[in-house]
Amino acid sequence: MDITLPDSGQTLRPGKLICVGKNYARHAAEMGGSVPSEPMLFLKPSTALVGHGGSIVLPPHSTDVHHEVELVAVIGRGGKNIAVDNALDYVDGYAVGLDMTARDLQQKAKEAGAPWSVAKGFDTFAPIGAFVTAREVGDPGRLDIELKVNGDVKQRGSTQDMVFSVAEIISYSSRIFTLMPGDLIFTGTPEGVGPVADGDVLEASATSLPDLRVRVRRG
Ligand code: MG
Repeated sequence: MDITLPDSGQTLRPGKLICVGKNYARHAAEMGGSVPSEPMLFLKPSTALVGHGGSIVLPPHSTDVHHEVELVAVIGRGGKNIAVDNALDYVDGYAVGLDMTARDLQQKAKEAGAPWSVAKGFDTFAPIGAFVTAREVGDPGRLDIELKVNGDVKQRGSTQDMVFSVAEIISYSSRIFTLMPGDLIFTGTPEGVGPVADGDVLEASATSLPDLRVRVRRG
């Protein structure tokens, strides 16, 4: 799917999906881990994206696919070695998204010391809602974020509780990967992650962002 930058109006093929693991202390704890001392990054392929109204397709490889609701930033301006102080100038807009995770495959990968690419990277494992300009959102560190499954609240948090701020994640990432317009940053999930099943309806919301609604179906 293409993405439209909300501020410039430019339509682009999405670039890298840069994701942060364990960026909320209570989620790190529910996963049996502690908060890392620097952002723990992984990548998803852009083929994992699916938009509002689409479907999450459960792959036959997993019996335990989890939801992780996250604030997503879209990069509007490329850069490298970006300073924390002006990192937010590189953000064109924000959306609410889901970092879908095959928890069983991720657990096996962790035990084997193997990468998370398979557990995180299936088609449709990165649903995102519509973007709103960074200007309209203001401070991305003061948003409430929530996920409902079939109308029941499963995750509720505030981006105030991020271990590493959006600016810190962008600055850190840009010292490793050159950031390009159309790159997406998935900023980590608050606690309350859990499994989804065929037929579930997931509704993700965050302050000042349009809701994201997707249905789960078996592949
Ligand atoms: Mg995540």
